[in-house]
Amino acid sequence: MLRRTKIVATLGPSTDTLESLEAIIEAGVNVVRLNFSHGESQEHVDRAQRVKQAAKNKGRFVAILADLQGPKIRIAKFLDGKINLKKGAHFTLDSQLGKNEGHQEAVGIDHEAVIQDTYVNDTLLLDDGRIELLVKDVTDTRLYCVVIVGGTLSNNKGINKKGGGLSAKALTLKDKNDIKTAAAIEADYVAVSFPRTADDMAEARELLNKANSKAALIAKIERAELIEDSESLDEIIRVSNGVMVARGDLGVEIGDAELVPVQKHIIQRARALNRVVITATQMMESMISSPIPTRAEVSDVANAVIDGSDAVMLSAETAVGDYPVEVIEAIDRICKGAERHSLTQVSQHRIHESFTEIDESIALSAMYAANHLNGVKAIICMTETGATPLLMSRIRSKLPIYAFSSSIQTQRKMALYRGVQTISFDASEIANNVVNRFSVAELLTKKLVQEGDLVILTKGDYINAQGGTNTLKIIKVGGSIN
Ligand code: PGA
Ligand code: MN
Repeated sequence: MLRRTKIVATLGPSTDTLESLEAIIEAGVNVVRLNFSHGESQEHVDRAQRVKQAAKNKGRFVAILADLQGPKIRIAKFLDGKINLKKGAHFTLDSQLGKNEGHQEAVGIDHEAVIQDTYVNDTLLLDDGRIELLVKDVTDTRLYCVVIVGGTLSNNKGINKKGGGLSAKALTLKDKNDIKTAAAIEADYVAVSFPRTADDMAEARELLNKANSKAALIAKIERAELIEDSESLDEIIRVSNGVMVARGDLGVEIGDAELVPVQKHIIQRARALNRVVITATQMMESMISSPIPTRAEVSDVANAVIDGSDAVMLSAETAVGDYPVEVIEAIDRICKGAERHSLTQVSQHRIHESFTEIDESIALSAMYAANHLNGVKAIICMTETGATPLLMSRIRSKLPIYAFSSSIQTQRKMALYRGVQTISFDASEIANNVVNRFSVAELLTKKLVQEGDLVILTKGDYINAQGGTNTLKIIKVGGSIN
């Protein structure tokens, strides 16, 4: 059974050899994520190189997602590496304290701006929410806090403010440099961390253009203010090619109880606006050190699939975990299991809307016909940019969308699209009157359809032209095909 939902795996020490990359690609990874929060840029360059080699060796299209660090606010370091905070103790965040001089009563912070954005009675969450501090007093350089939830606090842990409102600009100097690296390694996607507004995304787009990169942009939804009203969310989705439900930071800012409805809302809006959506963070967390997932993790991944995610993402599980291959095998299995549920196959998408574009009407009609006509086993979509398969894959279906394309960039990009399988096919080399026959023959040779099956095919008048899809044809495999 083909898996429709795609798998994004973060790379790290656990997946740094060519063999381990081949193994996770073999197990089902569609997109690799280079996490620019860790490591030097040369490390990412090397990783990208190895990924390209491994994908080639395995004959797969694997997209590269460069994930920028963004303005994550962090504490500095402790003299002894860590401290233990007790409930009720006093603790100060001090922008004047030396970088390595943290101690039991205070620690440095790397962004002074956090002090300007913080007020008495704010709650600060450290280390992904594990430690909770209540702000008691604020001066120009210090935040005097009392510990509400204690525990071990070690070097460079992140700080979030409950409810959001830390105003740091999305793109840091480091991010701007990393965008150049992303361009140099020909990343297919670039993820912007902590964007606040559409402007942050526009700035990233401009920098990518300047660096001659055609990467698609993913906005990580991880600030509370972005989901306060539906309009802010829609706006950031519209200026991006896709979004990530960044549950780690978002969950800390909005609280765990809010997270489930918010995840569903973000996925629904992304699909409605024809954008891709990745659900991320702690999906298989226990598999960092265990060969099998918990039932709760199985259920979480399955629900992200049923919600309509294009992809589910693994972070530490594949970057530093003990079972990188097993976790891919497990998530692959869970996605396929969830895709058997009828909710993932029946579409209500834009059923009451009118369309404005010809290619859009063809794409959506093809899916409507495919989902309603008995005997259809596959959809063939001739595509140059991947735009038509993207529109098609917003519709729920149990049928595979085979995107026939001659462009390697397009093939890699489509690795993220739910339900889309790419097939290398250069229609420009084939006479117009036999393109249909040849493309169906390609599916037959690959044993993806058999005689008697129906196949739906879409294309434009001009092969390899952008945006010209205007034809929908229903073809019987084995019959005479024109
Ligand atoms: P991160 O983003 O892993 O870069 O923090 C994802 C998240 O916040 O969930
Ligand atoms: Mn994050």
